[in-house]
Amino acid sequence: MERWKMEAIEKCDVMVYTKIFLKFPKKFWPCGPGKEFFIYAHERRGYYTFWQHMENAYPGSNILVVTLTNGESKRVESQSDQETMREAMEVLRNMFGPDIPEASDILVPRWWNNRFQRGSYSNYPIYADSTMFENIKAPVGRIFFTGEHTSERFSGYVHGGYLAGIDTGEALLEEMKAEKDRETNKKSILEPLLALTLSQTEAVACDIHRHLFHANTKREAIL
Ligand SMILES: Cc1cc2nc3c(=O)[nH]c(=O)nc-3n(C[C@H](O)[C@H](O)[C@H](O)COP(=O)(O)OP(=O)(O)OC[C@H]3O[C@@H](n4cnc5c(N)ncnc54)[C@H](O)[C@@H]3O)c2cc1C
Repeated sequence: MERWKMEAIEKCDVMVYTKIFLKFPKKFWPCGPGKEFFIYAHERRGYYTFWQHMENAYPGSNILVVTLTNGESKRVESQSDQETMREAMEVLRNMFGPDIPEASDILVPRWWNNRFQRGSYSNYPIYADSTMFENIKAPVGRIFFTGEHTSERFSGYVHGGYLAGIDTGEALLEEMKAEKDRETNKKSILEPLLALTLSQTEAVACDIHRHLFHANTKREAIL
């Protein structure tokens, strides 16, 4: 792969965003109209800070979702789910008291350790400029690149991926059309030249022979 492409890819960082799901036998958190989430303040930045319940979307699910990002995501990914459950329960008991029930199940996605993902979405450095975006989405030969990371305006978001897909699709169609035009032009330039090649001369010669043959057979028939 070309150096300019590799440099652009290397400069684009990938952020990890982890939503941990905890299932409980019953609700103990505030819900109802206007109550969607609660926040935990800890001296360690990003330590089980943002909590959401799923009662509005899935009533009776008794599920809490806690969001961790980057450094905390990577730390939690490297430990066992039991250890993460223990930490999360400690945080919840700090907020709601010691009598809350233990979670019956936990789901910890591992976006960072998934070798096909290596993170959740692109996160460009503050010094990123338009050349970097142009290089990251520029095709290399017949290979085209697309995805949320190629969207200059909406990188990191679903709509960035959607809009980038449309743009790349159009660029691909344009390139296919341009390639077809180039082929047609090449043909129209080469055709007169081809007429002079040996095979063409032979073809003309064959045609003369064929005419002569027909002429001869006709003459023989008359005689
Ligand atoms: C936990 C999390 C929370 C998020 N929250 C939000 C949010 O709230 N709002 C928001 O806007 N965005 C959010 N995002 C980001 C959003 O999901 C992405 O920006 C978006 O999905 C990117 O779309 P994409 O089409 O570029 O890539 P992807 O959705 O990653 O699609 C790439 C596809 O290519 C496939 N693929 C990979 N390699 C190959 C291969 N060799 N051959 C064939 N197929 C292959 C993959 O399987 C995948 O289906 C979140 C992401 C994560 C992980």
